[in-house]
Amino acid sequence: MVIEFSKMKNYIKDFSKQRNWDKLHSPKNISMDIVVEATELMDIFTWLDIEQSKNVKNNFEIFEHIKEEMADVLFALIRLADLLDVDLNQAFWDKVKKNEKKYPVEKAKLIAEKIQSIGK
Ligand SMILES: [Mg+2]
Repeated sequence: MVIEFSKMKNYIKDFSKQRNWDKLHSPKNISMDIVVEATELMDIFTWLDIEQSKNVKNNFEIFEHIKEEMADVLFALIRLADLLDVDLNQAFWDKVKKNEKKYPVEKAKLIAEKIQSIGK
């Protein structure tokens, strides 16, 4: 999978400009839109049990909807990155380096095991 942030960023910029959305696209509004779109994605899963959620790919209509909402989240995230001049690729790798320190493997495994043992 190749994510072409730069190509997507330029597309979104043109798409938004053509529709006079630039004034609406403040960082505040777009950060809120990321949550709105993420909520739309989550809503698809709301009443599914865990097994059903793992098998959504078997339902064409639901899976198409999931892909659309994932794309909406990505659209908004890339738009926010553009508005704030953030290099998403760099931001991602900077953050995972922090996460590696914050969640050392052995400590994280213990926490995961503890969580999975709840109710057993
Ligand atoms: Mg949506």
